[in-house]
Amino acid sequence: MTAQDRPVCRIGHTPTPLEPMPRLAHALGGPALYVKRDDCTGLATGGNKTRKLEFLMADAAAAGADTVVTQGAVQSNHVRQTAAAAAKLGFGCHALLEERLPNEPDVYATSGNVFLDGLFGATVERRPQGADMDAELAAAADALRQAGQRPYVIPGGGSNTVGARGYVACMEELLADARAHDLRIDHIVQATGSAGTQAGLVAGQCAAGTDIPIHGISVRFDRARQEDKVYALASDLAAELGAPDVPRDAVTAYDGYVGPGYGHPTAGMVEAIELVARTEGLLLDPVYAGKGMAGLIDLIRHGRFDARDNVVFLHTGGAVSLFGYTWAFDAPGRAAGPSAAA
Ligand SMILES: *Cc1c(COP(=O)(O)O)cnc(C)c1O
Repeated sequence: MTAQDRPVCRIGHTPTPLEPMPRLAHALGGPALYVKRDDCTGLATGGNKTRKLEFLMADAAAAGADTVVTQGAVQSNHVRQTAAAAAKLGFGCHALLEERLPNEPDVYATSGNVFLDGLFGATVERRPQGADMDAELAAAADALRQAGQRPYVIPGGGSNTVGARGYVACMEELLADARAHDLRIDHIVQATGSAGTQAGLVAGQCAAGTDIPIHGISVRFDRARQEDKVYALASDLAAELGAPDVPRDAVTAYDGYVGPGYGHPTAGMVEAIELVARTEGLLLDPVYAGKGMAGLIDLIRHGRFDARDNVVFLHTGGAVSLFGYTWAFDAPGRAAGPSAAA
C-alpha cells in the first residue's frame, strides 16, 4: 500500500539496497550500522534527487511543459540529476548555478557535476553568491516563456510537496526493508539541505504511523532555520497526504557539522569520507553525505546511541562532486584549499 496517489515517471532503480556496514561499525565501536543505498538510484550515477524527480517530471509532463528550469550550487547534484532526467524524458533543461564557494579551484568550476550538466545538454548560467535564487529562477522562467518555450520550474533541490513525495516513498521502502530483513530500525541519520528529503521521511512516518527518530545533519543553515524549513514542508505534505499532523519534535537537525559554510570542506568530512572508503569501499560526497557521516560519527563518539541500536545512514549520493574537490584531501602534491589553489 502506498500513501500516495499521484503519477510518477519511473526513472530510478528502486527499491535501493539496505546493507550492513560491519567494518565501519567495528572501527567506531558503537551501534550496528546500516546504509540505505540511495546513491544507487540509477539515474546518472544516482542520488536522492532521482526519487523527487519521479514526481516532479510527471508533474511537468502533466503541465504540458517542454523545458525544466532549476537552480543549485555550482557542484549541484540536483542540477545534474535534473539535467539527466530531462534528457531521458525529452525535455530541455536550463539551470542557474550559484557561486557559493569563493575562489573556486579549477576542478570545482569545471569537473564533476558541472561537466555532466553539459554532457546531458543542459544550459547553465551563473549567479553570484547571495543572489535571490528564487527570484532569479522566476525571471529565468519568464525569459524562456518570452522565447516561446513552456518552462516548468523545479525549486532548488526539488524540495516542494511534489518532490518530497519521493521520500515518502523511500520511507515506505525502508519500513518494508525492515520487515524483509527482520530488522528493528532505531534511528535514521541523513544529510539535510533544501529539506525535501527529511520532510518526506517525516511525513511518510506520520502517514505510516511510525516514529523512528530521524537525525538531520544540516549542511547549510543553523538548527532553528533548518528545523523550521523541514517542519513547514513536512506539515504541508502531511496535510496533502491526509496524514496526521507532524509533531514538532519529530523534526531534529544538528548544525555542528557545517564548518565555514555550505560546500566548504571540514576536517570531519575528510575523516568520514576516508574512513568509509577504507572500511566499506563506499564513496560519500564532500558537500552532503560526507558531512552527514561526520555527524553520525561524532554522535556515536558522544554516546548518543545504545550499543544495541540499529542505525541506518541514508546515503543520498553525490560522489560525482568528489572530482571537483580533490584539493580538499590531504594527498601529496595537492593544494590545501580553495585559496591556495586559486
Ligand atoms: C540534495 C542532497 C542532499 C540533501 O537533500 P535535501 O532534500 O536537499 O535536504 C543530501 N545529499 C546529497 C548528495 C544531495 O545531493
